Amino acid sequence: MKHQGKITGMRVRDVRFPTSLSLDGSDAMNPDPDYSAAYVELITDRGDGIAGHGLTFTIGRGTEIVVAAVEALRPLVVGQDVAAFTDAPGAFWKHLTGDSQLRWIGPEKGVIHLATAAVVNALWDLWAKLESKPLWKLLSDLTPAQIVEMVDWRYLTDALTPEEALAMLEKLAPTRAAREAEMRQAGYPAYTTSAGWLGYSDEKIRRLCRESLADGFTHFKIKVGEDLADDQRRAAIVREEIGWNHQLMIDANQRWDVAQAIEWTRAMAAQKPLWIEEPTSPDDVLGHAAIARALEPLGIGVATGEHCQNRVLFKQLLQARAIAYCQIDSCRLGGVNEVVAVLLLAAKFGVPVCPHAGGVGLCEYVQHESIFDYICVSGSLEGRITEFVDHLHEHFLDPCVVRGGRYLAPTAPGTSITMKPESLAAYTYPVGSIWQTLA
Ligand SMILES: [Mg+2]
Repeated sequence: MKHQGKITGMRVRDVRFPTSLSLDGSDAMNPDPDYSAAYVELITDRGDGIAGHGLTFTIGRGTEIVVAAVEALRPLVVGQDVAAFTDAPGAFWKHLTGDSQLRWIGPEKGVIHLATAAVVNALWDLWAKLESKPLWKLLSDLTPAQIVEMVDWRYLTDALTPEEALAMLEKLAPTRAAREAEMRQAGYPAYTTSAGWLGYSDEKIRRLCRESLADGFTHFKIKVGEDLADDQRRAAIVREEIGWNHQLMIDANQRWDVAQAIEWTRAMAAQKPLWIEEPTSPDDVLGHAAIARALEPLGIGVATGEHCQNRVLFKQLLQARAIAYCQIDSCRLGGVNEVVAVLLLAAKFGVPVCPHAGGVGLCEYVQHESIFDYICVSGSLEGRITEFVDHLHEHFLDPCVVRGGRYLAPTAPGTSITMKPESLAAYTYPVGSIWQTLA
């Protein structure tokens, strides 16, 4: 193993974008989000200027608490050899999540887990940059045994054992190259949420639908759950614009109790939604299962995951057949390692993974995870489509590129998450120039 240096420093920032001013990102539970991030930079003694960048997504107030939690992880990271991570990323993940005192404020959920995600994702960014590969390629070049090592198998083995996962990965390994070539050529299918935020005028919804159709999108998602008549009206507008050969999805952002979720979604059935997303509390596994059973005859699937706190909850949702679409979140889960755990679980249960990406930086992350999923884990695109929202990409050095309704395979080394220095300076809260102007 070549010398990779030592992590000698960590910088954490509270970065916030005033998106609430334009209602971008508005939904039934989050009417005025300011897309934000706890943004981490890992600095090494290598002397080549390569730093690992990572973030966890937040929506404004409270980002300072995540920043404090990242600071609490500092002693577990700074002073470590980079090789301690790259030699055994799974062991290092357990080191980060296993601190006996910090574990009390999780375990593996809540603010401490959001903080873990920022740090873990920064470590993967560092490794990918050191290998001069985009993250998806770094992951896709790992052996099945290395991928299995990356996962913390504790609490999973009643649903999936490391031996089964190894066999699944080995089965697909000989055909990885063909899928990699396909991804480089065609990219990964994306859907758009850009037209569907609550608070947009009808004219804006129509215009955004037409623009998205012209851009090649085939799947469109709208927010629901505030007012049934308004939801029916907006869904009808979107249907009018996209026709019946394209797919419509609806997203309630946890607004309902179980019975109301069933009733409300049934009342939307005329518009034939492909899925109802986050119908109720993200922790309510049995509630999701009841909703799924009730909606099955209508051909409407239940989707959830952006607020699922860890792999254990995903395991239960899959075991209970509570979800037809598994929506991993790159930062709600404990970074790349735990995302891979859920990709493997979903593949075992035959449930397509359709990542959540409504937030700053999430599109940049999920493109890598979806492409890796296809090449190494699922081997299939059937039923799989990854969210795209067209906000704030201009702040990244190597932002995701979506053409013809597909994420193009990233080529730049790393995780695509490095923000421009001038954006970091301007949007750091509350001292950045943007916030000083708004104050
Ligand atoms: Mg959602």
